[in-house]
Amino acid sequence: MNKYYEILGLKSGASQEEIKKAWKKMALEWHPDRNQSEEAGTKIQEINEAYEILSGKKQAPREEPQANPFQNPFGGNRFRNRGFRMKARPINLVLDLTVEEVYNGTTKRVQFHVDRTCGGCHGTGGLKTTACPVCQGKGMYTDRDMRFGMHTFVMCNNCSGSGQVRLESCGTCHSKGTTVQVETIDLKITKGTVEGSKIIVTNSGSDVPGADRSDVFFTIHVLSHPIYELSGLNVNKKEELSFVDMVLGKNVEIETLAGKFKIDVPTNCEANKVVRLRGLGLIDEETGITGDLYVKLVPKVPKEITEEEKQILEKLRSSVNFS
Ligand SMILES: [Zn+2]
Ligand SMILES: [Zn+2]
Repeated sequence: MNKYYEILGLKSGASQEEIKKAWKKMALEWHPDRNQSEEAGTKIQEINEAYEILSGKKQAPREEPQANPFQNPFGGNRFRNRGFRMKARPINLVLDLTVEEVYNGTTKRVQFHVDRTCGGCHGTGGLKTTACPVCQGKGMYTDRDMRFGMHTFVMCNNCSGSGQVRLESCGTCHSKGTTVQVETIDLKITKGTVEGSKIIVTNSGSDVPGADRSDVFFTIHVLSHPIYELSGLNVNKKEELSFVDMVLGKNVEIETLAGKFKIDVPTNCEANKVVRLRGLGLIDEETGITGDLYVKLVPKVPKEITEEEKQILEKLRSSVNFS
């Protein structure tokens, strides 16, 4: 845990308020939009991860124990008692959001299938159970390694670590110990949630006998939009303008995610010129960082013209600046 405090420049045991303050300050300082240094990308990830873990939004990754061939007589992936319960494998889901949803923030009701401890047998798979005769109901036994005189804890294979064995099977879960259920969660989507970001809901996943309920990881996917294209917090859009407006210049009203907005198209505006509107991109609710809106001014050619317009354009064609 200490390393996460260190990343944020804090002493271990700092308050939630201090953690949030330090994170905001560092996130602003290292945000790749502002910080051009090469390490900014990895640094911001570290900072965000430290914040998510210290604020309880995410679980710290478990440190894998050192592989020691003498410590585990079965080798491989067998359960070893390490003083804490194993956690069931996380559920990974993709959450589709619209551009409007990530711009405005929303609460999203999501439903997904999970395995939950069977109510009929309380996860044992049998209606009647008895203490495992091999481990005397402990779920593990100690094994002495004669070469080193050490004791190791080994999971009991007879009861898969549960300490209980079945006398009768359960009809509800067909002895699986779990049944499939639908979990419903109302997920808060903060403003400025970007493509690829993760929302972690701890202990909402599946039950596995002998382990803690798993976490659920949602990876955000922002659906493509007919007008707005997102790039991180920045937004891109095209604005079609008559070529007459682009030559003569005009104050035009354009649609943005923040509402209608007026921009000045300069005289003799070049085709595909990009205008940057600061602060009109996504607003990250948690850091206060805002993206920009980039508007590409694209000349529009009419699909048909009248005889009169044709004559004007013919005249124009032979004039000095249009020939
Ligand atoms: Zn046992
Ligand atoms: Zn059951």
